[in-house]
Amino acid sequence: MSKWDVSNFDNWKSEDYPEGAICLEAGNSVQYLTGGWRSDRPVWDENACKHCMLCWMHCPDASIYVSDGKMTGIDYDHCKGCGICVHECRFDALKMIPEADAEGGNHA
Ligand code: SF4
Ligand code: SF4
Repeated sequence: MSKWDVSNFDNWKSEDYPEGAICLEAGNSVQYLTGGWRSDRPVWDENACKHCMLCWMHCPDASIYVSDGKMTGIDYDHCKGCGICVHECRFDALKMIPEADAEGGNHA
């Protein structure tokens, strides 16, 4: 039987089902660019940042760039725009702006 031939689906046994939802290699999520999901984006004010790392600690997408213990920017290829980093920042160093404004403005 062809793997995708479903004409006899009602009689399939467990071994007839194609494999799915399998990660064939570790670390491949970095190849999947999720930044396009954003409707709003966080914008970083480097001058206000105290490098406390709260945003880095809470970002669910590991999208806060850090080098030598300091925040260095935001990975817009993978940031989904959830806004958690903005919520957690205690120093007003992050704010959310509409993605449409970022694309046409100075925040890209
Ligand atoms: S939470 Fe705010 S102050 Fe702390 S590292 Fe992030 S941007 Fe900087
Ligand atoms: S908006 Fe969400 S995904 Fe993007 S950097 Fe902030 S916490 Fe991470």
